[in-house]
Amino acid sequence: MQAYHPKKRLGQNFLTSDKIISKIAEVIDPHPGERIIEIGPGRGALTVRLAESSASITAVEFDRDLIAHLSRLFGTNEKVEVLNQDFLLYEPPYERFKLVGNLPYNITSPVVDWCVRHREAVDCACFMIQKEVARRLSSSPGGKDWSPLAIFTQLHFDVRICFDVAPKHFEPPPKVISSVVELTPRETAPPEYPQQFERLVRQSFKSRRKVLSNNLVPDLIGEMSAAKVILEEAGLATNCRAEQVSTEQFLKLTKLLVSYNIM
Ligand code: SAM
Repeated sequence: MQAYHPKKRLGQNFLTSDKIISKIAEVIDPHPGERIIEIGPGRGALTVRLAESSASITAVEFDRDLIAHLSRLFGTNEKVEVLNQDFLLYEPPYERFKLVGNLPYNITSPVVDWCVRHREAVDCACFMIQKEVARRLSSSPGGKDWSPLAIFTQLHFDVRICFDVAPKHFEPPPKVISSVVELTPRETAPPEYPQQFERLVRQSFKSRRKVLSNNLVPDLIGEMSAAKVILEEAGLATNCRAEQVSTEQFLKLTKLLVSYNIM
């Protein structure tokens, strides 16, 4: 493609390594008859590799300046559809698909939220994201990385860190190390009270300096004495922190708060 200046605001760090591109394609494992949605195809480096599989590809690129190049690359390939739009507003018409993207790092959380919202259609997802965020996404209770992002993602997906990628494999090189993660849907039933569960989890992590009860009182539970009784009933220490509470314990706590008409 002609001289093109990558746009920082759109997180444009283009992959230059064939080896990394092949490793991502191996994770997503495209087959004829499958639909693959790619977030931000950029100059098409990964798209070309995915298209070799003869799977049907929908490549959603926000940057209008890249569309002419992508259309030239795939114009005659009826298996590749290039859309010029914001992926976050994209509503796919497909019942099932695999999702892949070397993500612009500033939209990682909204893309993961999108994935959770569309979980019934997502066969699997493979994202290149910042290493630190990958560690957070795949964290377990008890560590400093445990967060609402990990809880809401892991409620619906198993998260696996596949491999790390050094800055030299991109143009321009980003300032941070990246990781490729794979999200595989889990069979678990959705929470009984999803809105209350989300509210409880967000409120619990509101201030990481505070113990859980101090985050819940008074915004969610009026009295400290009531909060302590409920925490004990959920099998939690009254001085525990949100970082120590597992998803199952948050679900149990939600049920108790609903049963006491607190939420
Ligand atoms: N896939 C290419 C590669 O690996 O070389 C490009 C990856 S680059 C990190 C991120 C791409 O996402 C850029 O092409 C950028 O223009 C595009 N992008 C940024 N925000 C977007 C959005 N909201 N929706 C769709 N594409 C977006």
